[in-house]
Amino acid sequence: MALNLKVPQAETREQRLGTIIQWDGAASQLARDSAFTHGCQKGCDNGGRRLCEASTPFSQASMCAEQIAVTNATIIQESVVIQHSPIGCAASQTFTCRYYRDLAERRGWKLEDPKAICTNLIEQDMVFGGIRKLEETIREAWERHHPKVIFIAASCASGIIGDDIESAARSLEAELGVVIVPLYCEGFRSKHWSSGWDVIEHGILRRLVSREGKKQPDLINVIHLGGPDVFSPLLAPLGLKTNLVMGGSTLDTLAQMSEAQATVTMCFVLSYLATGLEQDYGVPEVKAPLPYGLAETDRWLREIASVTGRQGNVEAVIAAERERIAPELERIRKALAGKKGFVAAGAAFAHGLLVVLRELGVEVDSAFSYHHDPASDSGDPTQDTLSNLVDGWGDIPNYTVSPDQHFQAHAALQRSKPDFVVCRHSGTFASLAARMGIPVLPIFYSNDGIGYQGLITIGRAILRVLPRRRFYEDVSAHSRFPYQKWWLEETDPFAPIIEPA
Ligand code: SF4
Repeated sequence: MALNLKVPQAETREQRLGTIIQWDGAASQLARDSAFTHGCQKGCDNGGRRLCEASTPFSQASMCAEQIAVTNATIIQESVVIQHSPIGCAASQTFTCRYYRDLAERRGWKLEDPKAICTNLIEQDMVFGGIRKLEETIREAWERHHPKVIFIAASCASGIIGDDIESAARSLEAELGVVIVPLYCEGFRSKHWSSGWDVIEHGILRRLVSREGKKQPDLINVIHLGGPDVFSPLLAPLGLKTNLVMGGSTLDTLAQMSEAQATVTMCFVLSYLATGLEQDYGVPEVKAPLPYGLAETDRWLREIASVTGRQGNVEAVIAAERERIAPELERIRKALAGKKGFVAAGAAFAHGLLVVLRELGVEVDSAFSYHHDPASDSGDPTQDTLSNLVDGWGDIPNYTVSPDQHFQAHAALQRSKPDFVVCRHSGTFASLAARMGIPVLPIFYSNDGIGYQGLITIGRAILRVLPRRRFYEDVSAHSRFPYQKWWLEETDPFAPIIEPA
């Protein structure tokens, strides 16, 4: 389905992709039902029925789309982000500040705090409107920082009172001569935080990508969640220059995306940007599986070479990389033989990590995905990461979809009883696993498992955490959970909501 970049708001991923956030069963069943939902991908044509979603009687703390949009706007260099919200929404800036400073250190940027301001909407503003406050804040942001771009992030509160952010942005843009990009990320608009990615990518596509640059014949956009540049070593031998975007970008890298030969995406949670670049800027998206695992990375490189017309030495690059890692891969596989792992991460990234564990010879019978998109924005079956996992590596019998709900994660770990956990979102999942006495490998920078070297990076990291079991058992012995005994023993994450037979 085509993206509509002419309107200021991005359509939510529930509307575009049929995203669900609650489900439990075999991965093969979810893959089959997702294909049925988006029948056009797999040859069945059913008119796009929605996936049947489970529900829970209550919800624990989680994230919202505003936090994702704000974080990813804040880590764009030379920007100021204005959160048009009550001060509570700005609590996420404590994390973003640390994130930005870490990125600055890694990228060689000036080490400073990111620039974010909250309009601090209060009761009076909820009654009389907050637009004057927003206009004053935009002027203040300009006076203080003279940024190259100002983002205005909407919130539940500004959405409820219906402040006309668009008009304020246009009039202040004319007055100050600075690009102002509204981000419509009201927390209640979407049930999943990943819609925040679409919102920031929508703003980038509409306002920050250049329509005037000249094509650069060796440039390839690599859209990633964040982390070190593990792509250049893979792509440079093909004569390609990596334009690393999202996860901390400069305005120049965003602007020149339209000049690239092609775009690859490292997690299809970010597929909105690649699809928009192809649709509105004519930059083709490479349609290939994510490069997690040997065969998948081979296919990924071959497809990039094909799209960019650089097939000449791709087989030699693949052979050399495979040969380079073979001895260490063999050592890691032997060391991990007989171990059982558990993966918790967001959708496509979780599928990628599951492939990595299976490639390393680890047994995996359970996984926890923070949401599920039945399709990617391109609608291309090669981007159906769940089906690729099931078809290529076998089923995951216990596959839970849950937006980081602690009580469900506890039951899922009780069911699996793994030797170790690999997870993203360490705040919930890593601390939970640790308190249950399970060695855990938290991954913040999701590029760690990518490509041939990714297998070695993840394998070595698991081997480092496994010997710490005694430490985790000590942590567990001194930990208490706020659940009753019957739930602590429960192994079904959806037990309270399943109707008696
Ligand atoms: S935008 Fe809404 S859901 Fe998000 S932090 Fe603010 S009040 Fe909470």
